[in-house]
Amino acid sequence: MHYLDHNATSPLRPESLSAVTHAVATGGNPSSIHARGRAARAIVEDAREKIAVLANADAASVIFTSGATESNNLALFGAAEGSLEGDDSRITRLFVCAIEHSSVLATADKLAERFPWIRGATLPVTAQGVIDLEALRVSLREGKGRALVAVMAANNETGVVQPIADVSKLVREAGALLLVDAVPAAGKIALDFSLCDYMTLSAHKIGGPQGAGALLVRNGAPLSPQLVGGGQQKGLRAGTENLAGIAGFGAAAHAVRGGEGERARIAHLRDQFEAALKQIAPEVVVFGADAARLCSTSCFAIPGLTAQTALIGLDLDGVMVSSGSTCSSGKVAISHVLTAMGVQGDLASCALRVSFGWSSAIEDVHASTGSLLKLRERIRAPSLNDRAA
Ligand code: PMP
Repeated sequence: MHYLDHNATSPLRPESLSAVTHAVATGGNPSSIHARGRAARAIVEDAREKIAVLANADAASVIFTSGATESNNLALFGAAEGSLEGDDSRITRLFVCAIEHSSVLATADKLAERFPWIRGATLPVTAQGVIDLEALRVSLREGKGRALVAVMAANNETGVVQPIADVSKLVREAGALLLVDAVPAAGKIALDFSLCDYMTLSAHKIGGPQGAGALLVRNGAPLSPQLVGGGQQKGLRAGTENLAGIAGFGAAAHAVRGGEGERARIAHLRDQFEAALKQIAPEVVVFGADAARLCSTSCFAIPGLTAQTALIGLDLDGVMVSSGSTCSSGKVAISHVLTAMGVQGDLASCALRVSFGWSSAIEDVHASTGSLLKLRERIRAPSLNDRAA
């Protein structure tokens, strides 16, 4: 089997599995003051430190959550609600980049419903999938009141890296707040939490377990808890911590942090894949190819080979990838990311995403390109009518 869908979820790293196993064996509630509780607390704090290092942040800024979806919900709802506690700091404007993950986009929609004084707007991207900084500058200048801006560090579908330092400069000059979803970027490019106010991370995208994530919050940034109950995590996220998930998350964060060699290897695999792809189908379109991209991701379309057909063919050959569009109730919905980049529907319906990670090997490149070659030959084969003519 050839697993090339690391952006959907990356298999559990061996380091992470042993940390999970150790945490499960340790047991204990991190809030208990007896020896077992203290051992559990030590596991949580060790993981917190490792995750902070990955994001160039203080351990105190890390709040553990059930994953990046919860983190994005907590950041947006929490910031809007938390800002009501100050007099002149009420958030009244929300600017969300068009290519954000649905956990940001859907939360932004709900936010406008729940807080009617918040005016939302979408920030466009260029044809290469990079945020339009001029549009951000203009948006921040218009209107009154505090703004909250959400721009991801890199896109999960195309891998296109966003200019967060430039975004941060504009946001800071405007006295606004910045949420950076760093889920796909984590471990692939350097993260710098000092550039933003909120940052989202997810364990299972870096080889940790599913169901564990974090929201990093700058000291002093508004945040109202969205889960209340026990006073865990300084009252910002109630609930007994997911000890095993957090332990595995910490181990994965530690593994990717020192992963220069791993990144170079992944980049090499991705480049070999794209070079072979161009041989197979010279007409292939690689989305965001002229922009800075994560080393792991290749989003492309071979015109005439629909993603639906390709996914079935690849799967039969034991190759697992994603389509660039989402499939629900039998209908293929065109990716909002490609739409924002101005990609036409016909081409977008052919979009495939191949994403490499720590467990990828050259055999995966050979298997996937071999399978794509067969599929490409099939769509180019003359039909019976052509032959008869
Ligand atoms: N943000 C981005 C950019 C993602 O790719 C994902 C996962 N597809 C999420 C957020 C949500 O992460 P989780 O699965 O941890 O809820």
